[in-house]
Amino acid sequence: MLKLDELIQNITQDSDYSRLTLERDKIEYILAKLRDNDSILKWKDKYEKCIKEEHTQRPSISDCRCKNREESERYRLEGNKHFQSKEDHLALYWYNKSICFAPNPSTTSLLALALANRSAVFFKLQKFKECSQDIESALELGYPSELRSKLDKRKSLCNTKLHQNPLTQSSLSSTATPFRSDKLRVHYSKEAGRSYKAANIISKGEIVMIEAPYASILNSKWHYLHCDYCYEEIVAVTPCPLCSSGCYCSSLCRDKAWRLYHWIECHSFEILQQVDDGTRLSLRILLSSSRSEILDICCHKIRAKPHEWLTKGLHKLTDESCFLSFMFSQRIIRWIQDLNVSTDDKILKNDQYQPAFKNLNNIDIALMLVSHIQQLRTNVHAITKLVTISKWRKVVCPEYNDLHHVSQNRQERIALALYLNSSLFNHSCNPNTIVSFTGRDITFKATCNIAKDVDVTHCYGPHINHMTRKERIDVLLKQYYFTCSCDACQSDSNLSNAELYGNALKCKKCDGPVKQTDKDEAFYRCQNCQWLIDSTEVLRKISRCNRLFLRAQKLSEDGNIQAGIATMKECLSDRLQLLHKFNLDLSFTYDSLAKLYAEIGNWKSASTACHKSVKTVQFIYGNNSIEYANELHKLALLYFNGKQINEALATINAAIALFDLHYGSSNTTRKELDDMKCFLLNCL
Ligand SMILES: [Zn+2]
Ligand SMILES: [Zn+2]
Ligand SMILES: [Zn+2]
Ligand SMILES: [Zn+2]
Repeated sequence: MLKLDELIQNITQDSDYSRLTLERDKIEYILAKLRDNDSILKWKDKYEKCIKEEHTQRPSISDCRCKNREESERYRLEGNKHFQSKEDHLALYWYNKSICFAPNPSTTSLLALALANRSAVFFKLQKFKECSQDIESALELGYPSELRSKLDKRKSLCNTKLHQNPLTQSSLSSTATPFRSDKLRVHYSKEAGRSYKAANIISKGEIVMIEAPYASILNSKWHYLHCDYCYEEIVAVTPCPLCSSGCYCSSLCRDKAWRLYHWIECHSFEILQQVDDGTRLSLRILLSSSRSEILDICCHKIRAKPHEWLTKGLHKLTDESCFLSFMFSQRIIRWIQDLNVSTDDKILKNDQYQPAFKNLNNIDIALMLVSHIQQLRTNVHAITKLVTISKWRKVVCPEYNDLHHVSQNRQERIALALYLNSSLFNHSCNPNTIVSFTGRDITFKATCNIAKDVDVTHCYGPHINHMTRKERIDVLLKQYYFTCSCDACQSDSNLSNAELYGNALKCKKCDGPVKQTDKDEAFYRCQNCQWLIDSTEVLRKISRCNRLFLRAQKLSEDGNIQAGIATMKECLSDRLQLLHKFNLDLSFTYDSLAKLYAEIGNWKSASTACHKSVKTVQFIYGNNSIEYANELHKLALLYFNGKQINEALATINAAIALFDLHYGSSNTTRKELDDMKCFLLNCL
């Protein structure tokens, strides 16, 4: 395989190269070097052969491409192992992967075997429609006839179940139509460039804008777990028939992705695996653009904030992006030439979607790609989704194993996206809009009433609830090249509750918050009453509490819940002595205790503990925060199970209002809350 980093190192270590300063010169230098590089030549041969094959016959899926017999086999066996130990979701994950890697069904029965095994998982998970589809495909694709009777039996069982319960068919969620509301007007000023102001009064909860991304890319960490096109969680994977990298939730998504960008990415599989998500996104932007649009995007930033852009200048070009520009431009041109030769006999028609690159030369295209890569960082938005961290997910994503406090739901960055209109919102660390995602589309909603002509702002990432003033200013300067002047950043007196209390100790004398300053300081001082706390002693006690916390978790994981509860209570009473009442560690302790009580069905104690945690989260993150919404959801479940009907209803109503604000009514948690509410109202 072509090793990207070695190759780049070889070329860029050259002293002639290091003297070059202009992007154009660098690219031309690399281009010349690559012409006689052995591994590049080999790679090009292979690539051209693949393309030729496709033009002379139906696309053949040979093993020299990205499908792989051994991998497919290995993943299926891994799936079997987990299925036997009753880890159904893990088994599903590995079978999906096995299906992505399985070669052409005419040469092996690997695809059929993987599908058949997956159908068993679906059957167990009571997903009968998916189960029945898998069995049909497996039989069609050459499932060994001697094993057939087992599948036939499952199929008939499945049909009976489907008949009994016609509601198992999943409904397609409708995607929102992008729109820009008349609530906003674009304002231009010399200092701040372009930004949005309220054209009319906007009331709390109102939608200000919905926009589809110009281009976006799945974070590589979520590969095989989320659809490469719509970013929803994958149940049954629909793989690209040519490579093992494209995996989708449905053939609809697969076809859309093919027309937009996968027609070229499919052939760059080996290289794309070796570069970061930002670089892959820039390729997608390029593929989504016509020539005039590319130029427009390149100028977008310059027009938006001219003074800033011109004074800061262009950032340094990385060697990697330089190399990639060359590779991709080569291939885009190649592909366009080929398209002109033959447009039929493709698995998917793409002639009407080919970008207008015909009149560009390699260097032009390479330079455009480079410009994209450079200006990307300031306009890219992360698409986040609420992900449930269950035990099986911890196995697939090892970084979760380091989390001491695993809450059930986490807001995760699933994908990177470029939104053109949305990038005009000015930043504030304490903004008056909130962002949510439906599939790929971004929605902005007002979090408070906004008067006419007031700035409508959005938080680029560093939010007052999650970072200190210093951290926010650093991040914004480094990533977005400006010094924040929002109200929260104006002065130190505007410290957020998270900064003041989230990490604070308790003053023995007045119960007020005591900030933990430098570790090396001998004493921490209470700001209210000047009382001093011995830092060495308090840190020693805190680490004892942390050990207790971990021990309690370990005990309950091993099934000894009662001992876990006792230890957790010990930890709690020690932390109550040391930590301020709004300290987040204290809130986590209550939260964990609630979970343990819930496991033994002691709903009353569970909801009492959870309520304490909810109060802290509300205070620290605010009444509109998603953190608060998630806590309310947990508390509602505890009240519900404990049959505390009135408390449950009040909590559910508060949670529903927040989930509407953040996600809209199609959100699954929101639906769950609605069901609980209906049930309770019937009980009254
Ligand atoms: Zn999808
Ligand atoms: Zn592909
Ligand atoms: Zn700020
Ligand atoms: Zn004090």
